[in-house]
Amino acid sequence: MERRKVTYQLYPTPSQAMRMLDLLRSHKDLWNAALEERIDAWRKAAKSISYAQQCASLTQIRGELPEDWAAMNCSSQQITLRRLDKAFAAFFRRVKAGQSPGFPRFKSMQRMRGFGYKSHGDGWRFTPGADCKHGTLRLQGVGQIKARGQARTGGTIKSCELVHRRGDWHVSLTIECAPSREGGAAAAAADWGVEKLLSLVKSDGSVERIENPRWFKTAQARLIALDKAVSRKKRGSKNWRRAKRASARLKAGIARRRLDHHHQLSARIASEVAIFATEELRVKNMTASAAGTIENPGSMVAQKAGLNREILDTAPSLLMQLIAYKVQETGGQFMQAPTRQLKPSQRCPSCWSLRKKTLNERWHTCACGHEEDRDIAAARVVLHWAMGSIPGQELPRAA
Ligand SMILES: [Zn+2]
Repeated sequence: MERRKVTYQLYPTPSQAMRMLDLLRSHKDLWNAALEERIDAWRKAAKSISYAQQCASLTQIRGELPEDWAAMNCSSQQITLRRLDKAFAAFFRRVKAGQSPGFPRFKSMQRMRGFGYKSHGDGWRFTPGADCKHGTLRLQGVGQIKARGQARTGGTIKSCELVHRRGDWHVSLTIECAPSREGGAAAAAADWGVEKLLSLVKSDGSVERIENPRWFKTAQARLIALDKAVSRKKRGSKNWRRAKRASARLKAGIARRRLDHHHQLSARIASEVAIFATEELRVKNMTASAAGTIENPGSMVAQKAGLNREILDTAPSLLMQLIAYKVQETGGQFMQAPTRQLKPSQRCPSCWSLRKKTLNERWHTCACGHEEDRDIAAARVVLHWAMGSIPGQELPRAA
């Protein structure tokens, strides 16, 4: 059994939308009140309040104000309190680690992302349509809301979260499911480069080059231009804010489309192979330096951290993770070659000899006569390693 998230877009009627906003407002008020309680306790008595204590006072308030809180689901309110608790835990962890702490904030309606529910049936019920396509969400205090979307596989609905973004509502369901996915028979190895997203070599001898989609390159260029525009504007000004918003919108759009693209590509690859091999995923550790410390918070935080890096980064680590996940779902094997011992980019796939290449040397040529594109040669080396078919060599095996 595994857990998976599925998102459906909600189509509330105008009066339902108003009631949902009321719920969001109550959760916002609850968050702010609970935050204030924690700050007060700390100021007056240097005492910290626990999640359990806040739940207890919630129960008490619910008893005292039954009418005001009738529409509010109790476990849902507890989730908001739990989130605040987590925000505090993260704050203390960052303080301890000497990072810039980021104290939990009071929230406006714009900053309130949404609210969650616990077990299915407790204040909400989702009924999917045929083949998990579309459906309806019944919400306590709101009614039956139309939902559009589709889950890839069905399963047991566990919990849900309502997300409010720029006027639209989504429900994100956590589903427990036993996935079904069929793999293929081939072994494949991939290398990624600056020019091509993936170079794929298969055991049947076929070679495939997969490009980054064209929209990705244009969107990347637009993003860089937009971020430059942001940095030229006066910080905090109206134009600065407008440019920031445009950049954030574009980033979210790119991230969504790219994830979608990677999901489709990895599903296709997983359906064709029994073994997929690639160089080890490089673990990136760059965010720490970008965030800086309390004494010296990084000046480049916005530019370096998070989405920007993920979007401008050409190493397809997200894609590799999706391929790994899906290949394993089919019962296939995802193998990571030990880059340092194997040296795929320096090795000749025909005679296994090593020769250093510079980064802009795009063509592999060898004294043995073998020549081809550098990335394809590297993928071939990894494929040999994965299949254990290296001529006359002691094999460096998977770690
Ligand atoms: Zn050679």
